[in-house]
Amino acid sequence: MSNKILEIDNLTVSFDGFKALNNLTFSMNEGELRVIIGPNGAGKTTFLDVITGKVQPTQGKVRFKGKKLSGRAEHNIAKLGIGRKFQTPRIYLNLTTRENLELCCNQTKSVLATLLKPTPQAELRTVGGLIETIGLEHKADKPAALLSHGEKQWLEIGMLVAQSPDLLLVDEPVAGLTDEETERTGELLIALAESHSVIVIEHDMEFVRQIARQVTVLHEGSVLCEGTMDEVQNDPRVIEVYLGTETSITSDQMLLLRIAATMAWADGNFEPAEQEIILDRLSRQFAQESAEQAVLKTELKDLLAKRIPLEELVPQLKTPNQREQALMLSYEIISVNQINQREALTYQTLLKLLDLPADTVSRLENATLEQLSNAH
Ligand code: ADP
Ligand code: MG
Repeated sequence: MSNKILEIDNLTVSFDGFKALNNLTFSMNEGELRVIIGPNGAGKTTFLDVITGKVQPTQGKVRFKGKKLSGRAEHNIAKLGIGRKFQTPRIYLNLTTRENLELCCNQTKSVLATLLKPTPQAELRTVGGLIETIGLEHKADKPAALLSHGEKQWLEIGMLVAQSPDLLLVDEPVAGLTDEETERTGELLIALAESHSVIVIEHDMEFVRQIARQVTVLHEGSVLCEGTMDEVQNDPRVIEVYLGTETSITSDQMLLLRIAATMAWADGNFEPAEQEIILDRLSRQFAQESAEQAVLKTELKDLLAKRIPLEELVPQLKTPNQREQALMLSYEIISVNQINQREALTYQTLLKLLDLPADTVSRLENATLEQLSNAH
């Protein structure tokens, strides 16, 4: 049996009768990195507030390492080993990176405790080890005020780790970060997950994709679904709550569209007018009436704004027929304009992943070209 670090049963939190959390059940194994997503107002922050003791549940139980948390004060829960990183860094700007970390290490580790209980992570938790972990060696002796927004986030994560929590709660760590900082934050969290249990609350889907093993989707205070990023992202219920409307297509069709969209976005540089053409073609593929097409088009724009690697999408196609459809749709998209080098490369990747017989490929390509010329 794996050890549960967190077990939550039928948790309800009411604010004046409004249930921010509604009969929520959740559990997580020790050592797990879990991402929680959900639209605004889903209850994500309240969920963290209950775990840390900031908010008391109206009903239900939270157990941390088998201990009931209800009724305990915030500082008490922190002492049990739950650390929380808030959205805005809480660091001392006039102290250096090193001094900020030293402050946290000293607070919680008496010399005696360190001598008596050497842990495997002892190295990580020394100030030097922490500075290395968060990648701020070159800024160790600079005042924190001079750090970039991303570096401040890493420093605060380091300060949290310095307190040796068993469970780290991280609320939207990449809001406002550059792409590069976002990627490094992901790497840092993955590294920390080797020695901690981590819950990350996040909006940024691309980031979630980078770090997520297991994703929990919250909606209206309850767990809507759980699974890998791919399972969750293609789940029609998730698509529906994120868009606020029911999508008119199935998850299989959605998968095809994602592949086609990834092709369309291959050169990362589509003019709005070109995007319009693509979305138009995609929506016509799956909706007959123009009103339906219009709805689908706006849905797709939101949903497909991010590219997802073909390597993740194509293996999800279940039948040869679906693979053929993916090929035709993708070929149509790149044939609309002159095929540039990026597109050609992406298309080659697609072909390799689809693994269709060569004569099938050329037959489908020709059929697509014919359709295109007939349409003009
Ligand atoms: P999320 O973090 O997923 O956006 P929250 O947990 O912040 O969602 O909020 C969930 C719902 O509970 C929202 O509708 C919010 O308005 C409401 N809520 C949160 N905190 C309070 C509070 N202290 N009093 C009243 N309503 C609250
Ligand atoms: Mg929130």
